[in-house]
Amino acid sequence: MMRSFQRLPLALACALLASAAGAAPPVATPAASAPSMLGFTVDRAAEQRDLEQRFDASLSASDQRAWLKLMSSQPNHVGSPHDKANAEWMLARFKEWGWDARIETYSVLYPTPKTESLELVTPQHFKAKLHEPPVPGDSTSAIGGALPPYNAYGGDGDVTAGLVYANQGMPDDYKELARRGIDVRGKIVITRYGGGWRGLKPKLAQEHGAVGCLIYSDPRDDGYGAGDTYPKGGWRPEDGVQRGSVQDMQQYPGDPLTPGVGATADAKRLAIKDAKTILKIPVLPISYADALPLLRALDGPMAPRAWRGGLPIAYHLGGGDSAKAHLVVQSDWSRRDIYDVIAVMKGSVEPDQWILRGNHHDGWVFGAWDPLSGNVALLDEARAIGMLAKSGWRPKRTLVYASWDAEEPGLLGSTEFAEAHADELQRKAVMYLNSDTNSRGFLDMEGSHSLQHVLNAVAAGVEDPETHASVLERARARMRVDGASDGASGEDKENAAIAAKGGDLPIGALGSGSDYSAFLQHLGIASLNIGFSGEEDQNGVYHSRYDSFDHYDRFGDPGFAYGVALSKVAGHTMLRMADADVLPLRFSDFSDTFGRYVANLHQTVDGMRKDTQAEHALLDAKDYALVSDPTRPVGPPARDSDVPAIDLAPLDTASSQLQQSARAFDAAYAAHVASGAKFAPAQQQAIDTAMARMEQALTDPDGLPGRGWYKHMIYAPGLLTGYGVKTVPGVREAIEQRRWDEANRYAAITARVVDGYRAQLDALTAAMKP
Ligand SMILES: [Zn+2]
Repeated sequence: MMRSFQRLPLALACALLASAAGAAPPVATPAASAPSMLGFTVDRAAEQRDLEQRFDASLSASDQRAWLKLMSSQPNHVGSPHDKANAEWMLARFKEWGWDARIETYSVLYPTPKTESLELVTPQHFKAKLHEPPVPGDSTSAIGGALPPYNAYGGDGDVTAGLVYANQGMPDDYKELARRGIDVRGKIVITRYGGGWRGLKPKLAQEHGAVGCLIYSDPRDDGYGAGDTYPKGGWRPEDGVQRGSVQDMQQYPGDPLTPGVGATADAKRLAIKDAKTILKIPVLPISYADALPLLRALDGPMAPRAWRGGLPIAYHLGGGDSAKAHLVVQSDWSRRDIYDVIAVMKGSVEPDQWILRGNHHDGWVFGAWDPLSGNVALLDEARAIGMLAKSGWRPKRTLVYASWDAEEPGLLGSTEFAEAHADELQRKAVMYLNSDTNSRGFLDMEGSHSLQHVLNAVAAGVEDPETHASVLERARARMRVDGASDGASGEDKENAAIAAKGGDLPIGALGSGSDYSAFLQHLGIASLNIGFSGEEDQNGVYHSRYDSFDHYDRFGDPGFAYGVALSKVAGHTMLRMADADVLPLRFSDFSDTFGRYVANLHQTVDGMRKDTQAEHALLDAKDYALVSDPTRPVGPPARDSDVPAIDLAPLDTASSQLQQSARAFDAAYAAHVASGAKFAPAQQQAIDTAMARMEQALTDPDGLPGRGWYKHMIYAPGLLTGYGVKTVPGVREAIEQRRWDEANRYAAITARVVDGYRAQLDALTAAMKP
């Protein structure tokens, strides 16, 4: 059912070599002291900076604020009247600003709660409120029309069972429960947020035999333990609930009934019972006010120290039948229409090269932080670009701006669009640039490493609104300070060392959690995800009714200066990608990063081997049994398999050869741009197309083991981390999960994919030479 992926035929790439010979003779370019701009001659770089200044002059913090207020004035979840009204309002704005705009509608499975209840039935009765009351000073918190708090794509069920506290509900937590003799089969598991993606908690509970799952926000890190609660401060109040999807997105995101194809009206659909991404057991998210009586009722062993949260109780694990709960969840399993707003500005020179930009517009309730703060920055960019167009400028390449629907339940709007237009996107898309929640703070940069340099160069030219340093220098300072802190990880230290050299900052790799997934990991389109965040972050209202305009205006970005800063970073990146003489991609940044990933795989295997040997020595000496308190015994951990030799040599070879090829390409590229020579338009387009398709060469048609929707062999969301990224995932996950044969096999497969990428790069280098 999965589509197979077209690679750039080498014959075409080699044909570029011949056509390049017909290039115009080099034109002398004036020496100038202006900083260089990748992909532009010195003269063209000056023009581009002028264009960016005119773009900046059109941005408006006060309009972003007014748009946020309007769009978050009513509940705007999928299927709500205001969600559709927002889409239609944006459509009218894009048209008014001179864009060729349309709404694309998809029909998706979107369950909404019909019945929800949660009661403690033993040892005493308590009925959970499952409701977020109005708070003073928050003008939308009393408005009707919202859905009750729920987890989309949990199963239907009516169960009464004993409760077990399973900490964060991650794999290691179940190992600890087992050491204490606690089995969750037939039980309702209560977990706290944190440690991994929410959807993994009920999935792992289900796999361990539980009949229901509760997820609550513990006040230690998501409430009064972090700071003053709303409305006094910005942190989660006692009745605040974190909603969210529990779809099994690690299999595939998007509409559960149409994996791999667009959810158009006439699409072929799976039966609901056959959809692999829908859970079987009922799940509910609850507040810490509702969790407290349940946790207080538990007896059994004390929870390990690290599992205890900020509630005023001793945390016990439960496990018997002395604390029993009754959980009911029934949903309406209807299909709903979703509305993607798509705006196009056709390129004047290379209309079939698409530069894409997106942010979603649906929220869980009002969605002021998530997602509208990023969405209004995107709208401001679109208006500023419209004004440039009205003054006579046109982009060389085509700009596509999108506001997605239905991101929250599982990236549905962007995934269905990407699947419906897969062939055309793989032929034409050069880049997808995503944003989502935005607030005061530091620029976060993640994405495909071929785009690392252009994003760094843009960030160096945008001023931080509060410190007046560039947003890049502020991000660098944080990277260096983080690397020197007590809790610094190996990666933090490595990043700090790179940052200290003063050049480009390393950008993070993309896992999942927003709308880039289908573009990057399914189609192989180079992608970026950016946004500002990270000040003593007061977003304690994530996915709750209190994620409102009033909250955002006080704690998110008062004055909306960081909304404007996001518009600048995103807008300049879009304009440089659209107007560069040669696409500003730098493959050596990818090859260097890949080299670090391979080195890290070696360290991982060596570290696991040492740790396993040390653990086996403790087990053999029966030390665990001897330290266990005889009156409260804790069993030894299960014995892991030995770590054999893993053959990473194919990756080492592929990596070092790729680094040489990437240097050769950089040299040919620099020489070409410096010469001022121009290819004929058709030849330039062929080179652009080949460059744009480089990222697709990192995909494999068979995809990752057990989850073929994910085709990218370098970046993927972790099976057991959810949003968190796994780099070189076929190999890394096999190692971490001790599937040694699979690790060897994917080392060879990944090396072969990287060799294919190198061959395409060599062909491009040849084409670029005069
Ligand atoms: Zn979002």
